[in-house]
Amino acid sequence: MTSAPIYLDNHATTRPDPRVLEAMWPYFTTIYGNAASASHRFGWEASEAVEKAREQVAALLGAEDPREIIFTSGASEANNLALKGGLPSLRRKGNHVITSAVEHKSVLGALRRLGQEGWEVTVVPVDEFGQVRVEAVEAAMTERTVLVSVMAANNEVGTINPLGAIGALCRDRGVVLHSDATQAVGKVPLSVVSDGVGLLALTAHKFYGPKGIGALYARRGEPRARLTAQIDGGGHERGLRGGTLAVPLIVGLGAACEIARREGLAEAARVACLRDRLHAGIASRVDTIRLNGHPTERLAGNLNLSFGYVDGEALMMSMREIAVSSGSACTSANPEPSHVLTAMGLDEDLARASLRFGVGRFNTEGEIDAAVEVVATAVARLRAHSAAYGGGVATSVHGERFDEAVQ
Ligand code: PLP
Repeated sequence: MTSAPIYLDNHATTRPDPRVLEAMWPYFTTIYGNAASASHRFGWEASEAVEKAREQVAALLGAEDPREIIFTSGASEANNLALKGGLPSLRRKGNHVITSAVEHKSVLGALRRLGQEGWEVTVVPVDEFGQVRVEAVEAAMTERTVLVSVMAANNEVGTINPLGAIGALCRDRGVVLHSDATQAVGKVPLSVVSDGVGLLALTAHKFYGPKGIGALYARRGEPRARLTAQIDGGGHERGLRGGTLAVPLIVGLGAACEIARREGLAEAARVACLRDRLHAGIASRVDTIRLNGHPTERLAGNLNLSFGYVDGEALMMSMREIAVSSGSACTSANPEPSHVLTAMGLDEDLARASLRFGVGRFNTEGEIDAAVEVVATAVARLRAHSAAYGGGVATSVHGERFDEAVQ
């Protein structure tokens, strides 16, 4: 049997922490009641567990009131609930929404649909590092702006946005700030109160919790978007999201939040060391590479690199020993280059020449060193067949584009 590849795709999803699984197990086996069953102990115990998890999520986000947490199936649903469910209540104030060019498809898609329903959506550009500038948001604001949607950290290049500054601007203008914080929660300290965030989406599977569970934080104070349920049902989650609560998953989300709250900072430092080791190792073996994303304001585990003279997809496919992602969304027969990389100014070739490495909690130094070897060997093999590659001398147009940012 061949051994499993080294997992370096922690932005796509993470391996559940054994402590999370341990916390969940009793809710599959003995405490399996429906949290809405108010007439017996099975229900009460399930409901208590749900409320404890709600407190754990609220504590990680710095929320004032656990009732501001609504459990959903994940971040896609939370983003949809925030935007489709939140905007109608703001319509009397205006019909203008601002978002950024590098948001996840669950935000851009929801806003596209709202655009068809009469909402005016301004998509602000990002800088060369993929960061949303507060000045760009301010310049896009009009009298009719009611909501700004900016992600806390980007899923491809890891760039962290200045949420506090954007939140302060929104607060001053009485505008609601929605943030898709899927990649940031558990990785960077967040405080919905001091960052001025009114709506925030998260999902457990990005920070060592189970898949299929997430939450929306919805501020009860002003400025406030009053939500309309997108899934009608039996009045669960105070009527905001119908459906029997997934108690084991909710317990897992709560446990993941608790671990992140206690260990997040130390973990980020350790993961950043591994990520920097990976970067330095690749840079010492491979020429003509370019770092995509912010050099410092970036998620600890993120390393997105463009490799000159190779196609990212071909490179990824030639490295069976490691699990990484390429810079194109291969959801169709003709893979589109990443909308994030192109929004940052990379042309299609450069975007296609990129790979995303995501280092996480369970990676080791040994794995990082082995990954460096795999990458260096695979790039050398592919470049050996490249007529344009001149032994590392950036002589072609393709090579010149790497000069400024050669790492
Ligand atoms: N937002 C961002 C930035 C993401 O990276 C993802 C995950 O791919 C999502 C939203 C969607 O999360 P979920 O899988 O929980 O729907």
